[in-house]
Amino acid sequence: MLTQTLEQYFGFSSFRAGQEPVISRVMQGESACAIFPTGAGKSLCYQLPATQLPHLTLVISPLLALMHDQIAFMTQKGIAAATIDSTQTPEQTQQVMDQVRRGHIKVLMISVERLNNERFRQFITPIPLSLLVVDEAHCISEWGHNFRPDYLKLPAYRQQLHIPQVLLLTATATPAVVEDMQNKFAIPASNTTLTGFYRPNLHLNVVAVEEAQKRQALVEQLQPETHLPTVIYVTQQQTAEEVAQWLQTQHIRATAYHAGMDHETRVSIQDAFMSGQTPCIVATIAFGMGIDKADIRRVIHFDLPKSIENYSQEIGRAGRDGLRATCTVLANQSSLNVLENFIYGDTPDQAAIHSLLGDIQQADEQWEVMLNTLSRAYNIRILPLKTLLVYLEMAGVITSQYSYFAEVKFQCIESPQAITDKFHGERQAFVAQLFACAVKAKTWYKMDFQQLWQRFGAERKRALTALEYFHEQGWIALSTQQVTQVFRVNASGIDMSTQAEQLYHLFAQKEKSELVRINQLITLLESPTCISQRLATYFGDHAAPQQCGHCSVCQGQIAHLPPRPALPHIDPQSLSTWCSHFIAACDSTPSAAAITRFLLGLSSPLHNKIKAKSIPGFATLAAYPYQTVKQSVMTETEIDA
Ligand SMILES: [Zn+2]
Repeated sequence: MLTQTLEQYFGFSSFRAGQEPVISRVMQGESACAIFPTGAGKSLCYQLPATQLPHLTLVISPLLALMHDQIAFMTQKGIAAATIDSTQTPEQTQQVMDQVRRGHIKVLMISVERLNNERFRQFITPIPLSLLVVDEAHCISEWGHNFRPDYLKLPAYRQQLHIPQVLLLTATATPAVVEDMQNKFAIPASNTTLTGFYRPNLHLNVVAVEEAQKRQALVEQLQPETHLPTVIYVTQQQTAEEVAQWLQTQHIRATAYHAGMDHETRVSIQDAFMSGQTPCIVATIAFGMGIDKADIRRVIHFDLPKSIENYSQEIGRAGRDGLRATCTVLANQSSLNVLENFIYGDTPDQAAIHSLLGDIQQADEQWEVMLNTLSRAYNIRILPLKTLLVYLEMAGVITSQYSYFAEVKFQCIESPQAITDKFHGERQAFVAQLFACAVKAKTWYKMDFQQLWQRFGAERKRALTALEYFHEQGWIALSTQQVTQVFRVNASGIDMSTQAEQLYHLFAQKEKSELVRINQLITLLESPTCISQRLATYFGDHAAPQQCGHCSVCQGQIAHLPPRPALPHIDPQSLSTWCSHFIAACDSTPSAAAITRFLLGLSSPLHNKIKAKSIPGFATLAAYPYQTVKQSVMTETEIDA
């Protein structure tokens, strides 16, 4: 029966490893979890059931390029699939929404942020849903890589939208993260399918090389077969450009590729790579997400990958055709300080958490927030700030009520009078009130909801629904901006000081676990035993051979990475001068952590506010370890952590 459907829609005569048990579970009405390596056919696990389930399948996907690829694939297979995303015109979005309402769409793909959107939730709530699919489901775990706080809210959204089943998909999750995923969606462990991580055709090499020799080592890796399809991963956009140029001087056809390039350039580079015209791509991790080239023969890490999870994903793009491919890391420890420092930059100051919680307690029952404003006010980066708010929600201190657009504007295509005349009775009166409370600028009207409420007692929600309807009918063009989140505060009886301590502790724990992750990567690269086997074990796959026979360790080469570079002692006189420049630019005395972030050049909302880049001392100590700098700052300035 399932095989028949597989044949009918996809033209395959049999399932790939792991697909059948996952699909059967979903078809039996259960929730499930699938952990397959990249390229092992995860998507089919929802695409096939979606054709059979009675209602809509809602897919949460983190990447636009990935969504568009999947939609193209499904459309080609005759599955009605669509996306609602930021690249669409309002007309296109409207068209998709119409089709969904009529039940013409089987699969709808969205980003997780879409669910925070008031207009989207109003639209999706009445639609019957069969299945919620969470792609890259490891993003829900605080202890995994790529944690995305909005994912933590998915279990609650699932309940609100009455979605009976969930399917979680990921390529990279450690056993601890899988357990976390299962717990958050209450999926029994027995409904998790894990296929093997070991890829016998990948030859994993670690080459220990001093920073100064890396370019030469890269050329040696590429020669003599410079025509082989190769992806070279680097961390920074500038490195991508420089390395590509250097390779060209060595007569190797290489092109840089990174997120700083415009869309058209990137597409043309991808095309040249796909056709074999450019064999070598020097890319930041932005490359490969939407690329499905089966015959990539080499993946070379010019810079260290960010974590074992990233490494696994990136090498996973090699040898999809099953033929031999080589994956090489050119490794040393020179960039470790920078990698680690980035992590420290994410931890909010203890004082900032205390003052934020204090302010929440002072807030009325309702607390309205715009993230950017909050981020600047408390000097907490956006990602940890979102995390903090989600944690407070989960602790019951605040309850998310809704988010709305601070600004609702429209342009009239038909005149307000003509629109009002289309209605009768109470409705007509309401529409007239609505226009009476819209303030006209040059061509745009701006809605004043407060006036609408005060003068006529008309609710914002009804007004928004009406405007939405006018927009659908083509009578107006609607524009909504600046998301404001509204929370209810339940602070009575809660000891905010203890709460703040606990939150700080959580962030400190996260910081520690991120640092451990870097450490684990180094341990893997310096492994004295089979690298393939270690990698598989890290992801809970115990079926890999003890010795693959073709990694650099099995070939007799254990890598000893050159250590971090020795740095000159920090001159106390200069340090003191830099600190005082920075302190003078701040409104109040900054914490030692804030001063350290300045000296290391780590991004911080405060830096934008005071234009820190132009203050002498900014990023001067970027190469130094965070703890060393912070200790020196504390000694020199006698300011607390
Ligand atoms: Zn091996």
